[in-house]
Amino acid sequence: MPEDDRIPLVDLAAAHAEVADEVREGWARVVDSTGFLKGPEVDAFEREFARFCGVRACVGAGNGTDALELALRALDLPAGGGVVCPANTFVATVEAVVRAGLRPVLVDVDDECLLMDPEAVRAALEEDPGVAAVLPVHLNGQLAPMGPLLELAQAHGLPVVEDAAQAQGARQEGRAAGSWGRAAATSFYPGKNLGAYGDAGAVLTGDEAVERAVRMMGDHGSRQKYVHERFGFNSRLDALQAVVLRAKLRRLPAWNAARRAAAARYDALLRGAEGIRPPSTLPGNEHVWHLYAVRVERRDEVLTALHAAGIGAGVHYPVPVHRQPAFAGPSTARGRYPVTERAAGELLTLPLFPQITEAQQLRVAEALGKAVMI
Ligand SMILES: *Cc1c(COP(=O)(O)O)cnc(C)c1O
Repeated sequence: MPEDDRIPLVDLAAAHAEVADEVREGWARVVDSTGFLKGPEVDAFEREFARFCGVRACVGAGNGTDALELALRALDLPAGGGVVCPANTFVATVEAVVRAGLRPVLVDVDDECLLMDPEAVRAALEEDPGVAAVLPVHLNGQLAPMGPLLELAQAHGLPVVEDAAQAQGARQEGRAAGSWGRAAATSFYPGKNLGAYGDAGAVLTGDEAVERAVRMMGDHGSRQKYVHERFGFNSRLDALQAVVLRAKLRRLPAWNAARRAAAARYDALLRGAEGIRPPSTLPGNEHVWHLYAVRVERRDEVLTALHAAGIGAGVHYPVPVHRQPAFAGPSTARGRYPVTERAAGELLTLPLFPQITEAQQLRVAEALGKAVMI
């Protein structure tokens, strides 16, 4: 297979080509100024991204996992308090909870959209009086059902923190990901819809006290040099990343629209295909298709066949959090999260990025159709 015929899972080079000039100019400005941390590029990006999400404040962080930890720490929850998280998520969601000195309380997801299931949350809240917060994950580019989740959290007097790492620009009932909870965290990992050229993340919040706490904690607990008001650590967005993120943010609405068009093309190509279950969108959601994941039987064989055909399909995620050795424990016993476990064996992520062509998608669909028939 010649290199050019391969279809990657994501094509970061194609995205870079669109912003290359702006990034070069911006980076030259930063290097000339030697203002590598903080400064005008970071301030401007924080303002622009907050406006984009319809939230009062955005505070940059070193990465998405730190951002989630900072958001949780800023709420000053009781040590060891439970945080309800979906079992079907990237491991970072749960890492941040543990690092913040809190206790993950995993719940299963719904079988249709694989998002946090409000009924499972209700059961967890009734069962566990030590729950201190609810942490929905906007998986694959669409929001978890925020209406029912906020209602449940409010009824128990609990704050909601959103993991919006996979949903930059996604909306539900017209309201953006990151604008629903007391705070939200997002990641600008290079492969995310809004990706930096290295690690970066941010906290979004409408709450001034949370903003102040996050800003301080991510900068050694300090507002004024050498005065450390509270315990903190070092997790800051740097100016070189802010340049990239500003250039890409300007394209994000168009890129998300291109992702939506590509997802619709896959939907049409796969409609009625035997043995392939396409992804579902929750009513009311404007999806931004961070990942387009179908479900198939004998997934690993299908994946091997696609790779042999030069198609960079992936799996998100092959082993759920509760089955990872790092998180083994009584609450993570096999069989407790049947939807998540079953999906982990069936999920298959197809190549999708704003610049993917119809011809590429046709090839993916044909190869997939063949692979599931073997
Ligand atoms: C990417 C991601 C994170 C963590 O982001 P990093 O920037 O890699 O630390 C957290 N949660 C979810 C759901 C993610 O996809």
